[in-house]
Amino acid sequence: MSVNKILIKGGHVIDPSKGRNAKADLLVEGNEIAAIGDHLSVEGAEVIDAAGCTVTPGFVDLHVHLREPGFEYKEDIASGTRAAARGGFTSVVCMPNTSPVIDDETGVRFVLDRAARDGVVRVYPAGAVTKGQKGQEIAEMGLMARAGARMFSDDGLPVISARVMSTALTYSTMFGVPISTHEEDPSLAGDGAVNFGRISTLMGLPGMPEEAETIMIARDLELCRRVGGHLHIGHVSTARSIELIAAAKADGVSVTCEVTPHHLTLTEDLVKESGYDTNTKMKPPLRTEADRRALIVALRDGIIDVVATDHAPHSFDDKDKEYTFADNGITGLETAFALLHDRLVLPGDISLDRLIECLTTAPARIIGIDGGTLCEGAAADIAILNTDQEWAVNPGKFASKGRNTPLVGWSLTGKVDTVLVDGRIVLRGGELTC
Ligand SMILES: [Zn+2]
Repeated sequence: MSVNKILIKGGHVIDPSKGRNAKADLLVEGNEIAAIGDHLSVEGAEVIDAAGCTVTPGFVDLHVHLREPGFEYKEDIASGTRAAARGGFTSVVCMPNTSPVIDDETGVRFVLDRAARDGVVRVYPAGAVTKGQKGQEIAEMGLMARAGARMFSDDGLPVISARVMSTALTYSTMFGVPISTHEEDPSLAGDGAVNFGRISTLMGLPGMPEEAETIMIARDLELCRRVGGHLHIGHVSTARSIELIAAAKADGVSVTCEVTPHHLTLTEDLVKESGYDTNTKMKPPLRTEADRRALIVALRDGIIDVVATDHAPHSFDDKDKEYTFADNGITGLETAFALLHDRLVLPGDISLDRLIECLTTAPARIIGIDGGTLCEGAAADIAILNTDQEWAVNPGKFASKGRNTPLVGWSLTGKVDTVLVDGRIVLRGGELTC
């Protein structure tokens, strides 16, 4: 039986795992990358003309809400993985704040089975740190790791008990799986709906102060310093968070962290400008311009390791409420690359090379998967990007069930054109093939 061959010709290849940033052809045979080089030509191969495009490893997202089981009206594994493919993502970590919470082996197996049946990209379940995400009793982390959990998180909620967090970090060493955190002190966060400061005062909305985030980050860095383990700080949003993490890293604390596309490109001013659009409501909230600038510099300098979308789809009704009562979060998978390319790469705030690293090689390394590389013999998880193509964000066309984005109608330059997962074309010309 002959193997399926695909030749991606004439693209500009960026592979941060190999420091490659040059024009090259790429040959896929079956589910593997068979060769990479100049002027490859292969009998019987399907040719994809990538001239003028950028060819990268498929993106890896460490923070996605697929909502299944329990909230399939917001998203499910079928729709969420298609949204991922549309955005260039070939691997996603899905958060366990489902119903029921993914806090045991059965839950992890359920997600993996469903992903094998309905998914079009690779799905790596995150297991909960505590039973039922109640913050009290540690979950069966060992059994979940054995069943395939690649991360642990109580995301959506903080781990209130420092003792439980300390134990979780100890276990993270034993199982080689990072603990991803949602850093929020509830006594300070209260019912805060926006960043505490100028906009909350102007608009009369309850504010969430930056200390709600930084105090918990400081605590977890101290715990990690003591007990070790791999602490991965989710969605950092303030300049002060960066200072704390930079200092800990300089001391050799084993911490990594992520930032979302929206915290890198939007600020609290959008809450006002949009006229209370609940699609500007998220946790952590959009912050100030000074915070945003600090996040960009930290991403450029490597203090922030990865970009993760925190893709948080909701139904129309979940968001169609008074600002303070609306659910938190926005969709992110289908707009992430375009938004970052348009708002950060084109103005020269960050290089395309560094952005791709933060979307591929760096996140793959954090969860210890084989993705994020185009080296020969690796699984053929590939994204082909058209960095010149301009398009307007139209949620009506999303593959995600979530339409909740503040970017409606925004014109962005940079589009994901073609995506291969395990050697199979799942997106072509920006359209899903499955
Ligand atoms: Zn979170």
